[in-house]
Amino acid sequence: MKTAFFPGSFDPPTNGHLDIIARAARLFGRVVVGIGINMEKRTALSFEDRRQLFVELVGPIARATGAEIEVVSFTGLTVDAARKVGAGVILRGVRDVDDFSYEMRLAGLNGALSPAIDTLFLPATSGLGTIASSFVKDIARHGGDISAFVPPQVADRLRAVLAVDGSKPSASA
Ligand code: ADP
Repeated sequence: MKTAFFPGSFDPPTNGHLDIIARAARLFGRVVVGIGINMEKRTALSFEDRRQLFVELVGPIARATGAEIEVVSFTGLTVDAARKVGAGVILRGVRDVDDFSYEMRLAGLNGALSPAIDTLFLPATSGLGTIASSFVKDIARHGGDISAFVPPQVADRLRAVLAVDGSKPSASA
């Protein structure tokens, strides 16, 4: 069975990420979502929050497509994580030319590190290409409506976390 590895920070998971996963699930028998853990980067949602949200959100996609969809964490090199889960393909979404030039460099480096693992780009679906996790967090922090960008359970979790955080002085930095 062909496996694709979809790595990212997913802080938070968005409709753009889920669209890529749904399309990948029609192309591959198994899709492994890899939540990258970077100890130096403070995230809005904990790894466990992101994992639980994904597990809930990919369930219907797996049922609709028949693909196996798993959610794992990883540290270190993406190619090593892809190899560990048995993936021959690293999947990345591309929203615009900025993503494209960044992703091209990343794909080149990963290809040099591990020629046996290929990178596949999926272009953002029309209407979803403006969604970025960082913008979603900014909008949520300022009390804006994020319901067009993330599923309701993600919006709820993000609001809860930011509300708790907002009471701490360090969150305003
Ligand atoms: P990273 O921290 O690795 O940049 P992200 O969590 O921001 O990861 O995104 C993971 C992957 O999903 C990346 O390939 C990114 O380009 C892609 N992506 C993010 N948002 C969208 C979107 N709205 N549509 C399509 N692909 C997206």
